Amino acid sequence: MSSDVITIRTENKVRSLIARQDFKCGDVVYQIPSEKLFDKPNRFTVQMDRERHTEVGKLSALNHSCDPNVILDMDRMLVIANRDIKAGDELSFFYPSTEWEMAAPFICLCGSPRCIHVVAGARFLPFSTLEHHYLNRHIREQIIDLLNDTQRHLPEMKQK
Ligand SMILES: [Zn+2]
Repeated sequence: MSSDVITIRTENKVRSLIARQDFKCGDVVYQIPSEKLFDKPNRFTVQMDRERHTEVGKLSALNHSCDPNVILDMDRMLVIANRDIKAGDELSFFYPSTEWEMAAPFICLCGSPRCIHVVAGARFLPFSTLEHHYLNRHIREQIIDLLNDTQRHLPEMKQK
């Protein structure tokens, strides 16, 4: 479909994804292609659900931001603007909104007052950070699983 509404820019070997038209907050920017599935993440994949990671075509050039302008909705496989975007703006999303544990963690230098600094996946972030972002369903489920697993810290009661 809308293959020319976004374009990859390469500067100093760093790729980024650029909007070629304006978008309003809430607009669908792009349909996420699912080109090849993996059961483990790599630096080019996006996590779709608990088990599956997909290559995403030119969306692999989408960089992370702690103050992003798009959301990836992996249920509907859509990129959605979460604020108004101008033609020429770089598009970015919050990687922990799809990634539970990343294959290639890195240090973020986005400069946002909300910068999380270490981008390694949602499981390494506090709730006070996660609650400011849209999180995909598989991330929300894995947070709940992690909390349910804390039951194992309850000691067995000794019968007397
Ligand atoms: Zn940041």
